[in-house]
Amino acid sequence: MTTTKKAVQLPVLERSRRNYDRLRVCRRCGQYTILPGEDCPKCGKARLVPVMDQARSKARRKMLNEILFTLLLTIIAVLLAQDMTQIAIAAASGLVLIALLVLVQRRMMGRETLRQLSRLFRYDHATIHEGLVQDQSTGVETVRSGEDVKGYHILRQTAVLVHNDRLRLALLSLLQNFRLRSDMDLELETLITRDFDPLVADYIGEIARLKRDMIKDRSIRYIIANEPKILEMENGWNILISVTSAAVRMKRYVTMYPGFIRRYARFLPRERFVRLYHVVRNDPALQGEVLGQDMENIRAELYADDPAFEHDTAGVERS
Ligand SMILES: [Zn+2]
Repeated sequence: MTTTKKAVQLPVLERSRRNYDRLRVCRRCGQYTILPGEDCPKCGKARLVPVMDQARSKARRKMLNEILFTLLLTIIAVLLAQDMTQIAIAAASGLVLIALLVLVQRRMMGRETLRQLSRLFRYDHATIHEGLVQDQSTGVETVRSGEDVKGYHILRQTAVLVHNDRLRLALLSLLQNFRLRSDMDLELETLITRDFDPLVADYIGEIARLKRDMIKDRSIRYIIANEPKILEMENGWNILISVTSAAVRMKRYVTMYPGFIRRYARFLPRERFVRLYHVVRNDPALQGEVLGQDMENIRAELYADDPAFEHDTAGVERS
């Protein structure tokens, strides 16, 4: 495949503490959106507030109603009172109740806000979904109009809350057009699909070359689970070697996936094989397995006079 990749500058995704932090609702029409911007995507009015603020104001309103209700009861008691003593008692106990209520409410504010938030998610589930679908269409339209980086960024923002393979594959097929660099704000595990797709395998391979540290269990397991299909891909062999190269940076992966590592050890770039060789040699358990024997065989065959294998390497840096 000879696609020319485009040199681009990908915007950085601003991360928030909770994934719903960026979700906002329009106070005028009730539309939800996860995209930034002043105006509501539906009614165009600048009435968007974060869902957390919406929940907080609902909690406040509920508490205010409780106070008003207590006040009403106090007034009724005062009106029903038959003499000054009863009026005084009714008024005083009413005021004490209200004061207590305010104190309790103050303590409960945080919890009540969260309760309102989960109510909002429950009751507005369909509306939130519609809003996110709308956000995604905005992204797709932006891509269609030729602004693929902008569109990618919009879709990526929706992916914070929308988790499905269709969106993952859309993002991956956009990424495929870009020339990726290691200094870019890229993600990997969130883009791995449930079923096999060559787009995912290609992307894992590319990340393994660019940002070795990002290759973790999920990616390795995906590659192992789909190894036969990847081998059928034009670029499959390179993907498998790159992922193995990345995996040998940690002893844990060598221990967990020795069969996979063995299959590609012989084809690793020299520097990665040196790394693997030392990982295995420094661990008696690994050394005693077939992998240990393989290491010696490969070394004897390919690197017989190579001094890199001689010195002891307790201090080999994780790389
Ligand atoms: Zn609106």
